[in-house]
Amino acid sequence: MGLDAYVECNCLKEGKAKPPPFDISLVEWTDEGIDVSPTVDDETYYLFVNWRKHACEHENFKYYHNRVANIAGSNFLFGVMQRLGREDYPLLNSIWNKPVDAVQAGKALEELNTLESKINVLQGVFLVESQSQKEYVKALPGDDNWFYAAGSEYTYRLNERGFYILDRNSRELFRSMAFSQEVIDSQEEGRAHLLVRFQDYVTGYIHEASHPFSTKTWGVDLLYYPTSLQVGIRELMSSDLPSVEVLRELFEASLTTGNPIIWT
Ligand SMILES: [Zn+2]
Repeated sequence: MGLDAYVECNCLKEGKAKPPPFDISLVEWTDEGIDVSPTVDDETYYLFVNWRKHACEHENFKYYHNRVANIAGSNFLFGVMQRLGREDYPLLNSIWNKPVDAVQAGKALEELNTLESKINVLQGVFLVESQSQKEYVKALPGDDNWFYAAGSEYTYRLNERGFYILDRNSRELFRSMAFSQEVIDSQEEGRAHLLVRFQDYVTGYIHEASHPFSTKTWGVDLLYYPTSLQVGIRELMSSDLPSVEVLRELFEASLTTGNPIIWT
């Protein structure tokens, strides 16, 4: 699940697109961008879909198209704005899920620059693999959102006091700033079952759960499980907010083309 957005090119408006294999008057500009009249038959619709794909150098007339954030990423960005003062970012707080025109994009770009210049006044909490420092989860101090839920049984959370697991009654089952992870494939009543054993380095306390931290490497079938994880706190950097870079590209694309940003 996530939020994608795009800005269309002007090739069709400027006569730079290939002519469609159907009556061009059937093409319409809608809030979702270039579309075909809803009254066309299936055959014409498929002609439109195929034509749109390669009618110009931009696939589907998309000048810029990208994933802005997944749910965790957008929660993190909203958390940052809340801590910096939401009133300074009225557009960044409100543009989601509705078309943004080029004028608004210009103002939103200014808000984005302000946000980027202030980001290092905040600290972030990072759950990383001890050796490689590879980041698995990030949060903001004071956060109490869960980032993983095992049905309604328990949730994984992170804040400046560590990685912690709460049960459905908000009872704390485990909390640690540095711990080992041991993953065991077990059989339970004939079914393959994954067991993970977390052990806090300071107290030695062990907690068993069913969801390990893992990384999927492209092209490799087996998941990689870090054996040692720790929680660290440091100043936030703009690279901690990947959605900021995508938003910047979107706002700039909107300013360049004069076309709105459309969410999908
Ligand atoms: Zn184009």
